[in-house]
Amino acid sequence: MVEKIRMNTPLVEMDGDEMTRVIWQMIKDILLTPYIDLKTEYYDLGLKKRDETEDQITIDAALATKKYGVAVKCATITPNAQRVEEYNLKQMWKSPNGTIRAILDGTVFRAPIIVDSIKPFVRTWKKPITIARHAYGDVYKDVEFRVEGPGKAELVFTSESGDVSRQTIHEFRDAGIILGMHNLDKSIESFARACFNYALDQKQDLWFATKDTISKKYDHRFKDIFQEIYDNEYKEKFAAAGIEYFYTLIDDAVARVIRSEGGMIWACKNYDGDVMSDMVATAFGSLAMMTSVLVSPEGNYEFEAAHGTVTRHYYRYLKGEETSTNPMATIFAWTGALRKRGELDGINELMGFADKLEGASIKTIEDGVMTKDLAELSVAENKRIVNTEEFLKEINKRLVEMM
Ligand code: NAP
Ligand code: MG
Repeated sequence: MVEKIRMNTPLVEMDGDEMTRVIWQMIKDILLTPYIDLKTEYYDLGLKKRDETEDQITIDAALATKKYGVAVKCATITPNAQRVEEYNLKQMWKSPNGTIRAILDGTVFRAPIIVDSIKPFVRTWKKPITIARHAYGDVYKDVEFRVEGPGKAELVFTSESGDVSRQTIHEFRDAGIILGMHNLDKSIESFARACFNYALDQKQDLWFATKDTISKKYDHRFKDIFQEIYDNEYKEKFAAAGIEYFYTLIDDAVARVIRSEGGMIWACKNYDGDVMSDMVATAFGSLAMMTSVLVSPEGNYEFEAAHGTVTRHYYRYLKGEETSTNPMATIFAWTGALRKRGELDGINELMGFADKLEGASIKTIEDGVMTKDLAELSVAENKRIVNTEEFLKEINKRLVEMM
């Protein structure tokens, strides 16, 4: 038996809910602890524990991420009215991802896991496309108003010193609608830096697009901030890394992305990122094959799967039925975190292990062994559908060969 890989700094481990919580433990038992002397600081973000601690556990986990720099998170339930009843909750706790994002002030990067035998719906795509979504403001923090009849709508800003600026939005002759939204230079700046840093980290081009020709102040501000930060802080680093920053209009970007081979990071404003990440994930095959990482401006990383807790499978699992839930995105959350920890602590074995585990996982699917969700997408011959545990054991067989 070879010696286990040692770690110096603990990973912040955020456990979660339902089917993904079950898979979380299986991944640790079958694929991680046999090879790594796994060092984690454990936070149970399962809904029961969040309720017991009045959600303090989520805040503690986010603060620990600031302290250690790298976290790995299992999918968690965001409570709604039905969950409040199901779990008899003290209140409808906020989304853990929202809480963590607010504390780390980050940008979310989502990238597909590419497997040869699963063909993207877009024929030209050969490399992953990563969506970088700004996670503050715009329509997600807007004020909306229903105009019932004739009247004048104005945009009024009163400065702290009492200066008033006033513009007419529209003179309504009849019913209609109004919306007011905002963003902050600071938030856009940290979004820009997160994107530039991530592009350097991944050695991939960065694309950014807005509608600045129409939105001459609002969207234009995004464009200007990105350009200023690029010129002042990143231009030389990008040249040294052999990558490019490319700005274009959002409609042009959409057309170019579809025609491209992929392989870029596409920075999107909040709404564009919401829409485009679902489009890109679906075009590459499945949400279960999508990784997600939150990167803060200070360089803290939180890795997770892009999908939820797969409730429908969990209820079947509770009834003792066999489930074939895809663990790929959760495995890749672990490998992403282990690789980053290895990189920060200078532990090559840990980085190497992450590469091998990813390789073994992809090879398993390419060999035709897969979970049910992928069977419809894969063009592999001799497909064999297995349950989650068998799938993990098949990955382990290949991992053993690689070690
Ligand atoms: P979901 O858990 O992503 O599952 C939706 C459906 O997608 C599943 O029923 C399943 O389809 C398929 N699916 C998703 N992941 C899969 C996987 N790994 N393997 C196989 N199939 C997979 O979304 P949801 O049902 O809307 O939400 C469930 C819970 O997750 C909610 O409480 C929500 O709050 C939470 N959630 C958490 C996060 C997060 O923590 N990041 C994100 C989203 C949702 P079939 O049933 O057809 O097989
Ligand atoms: Mg969405």
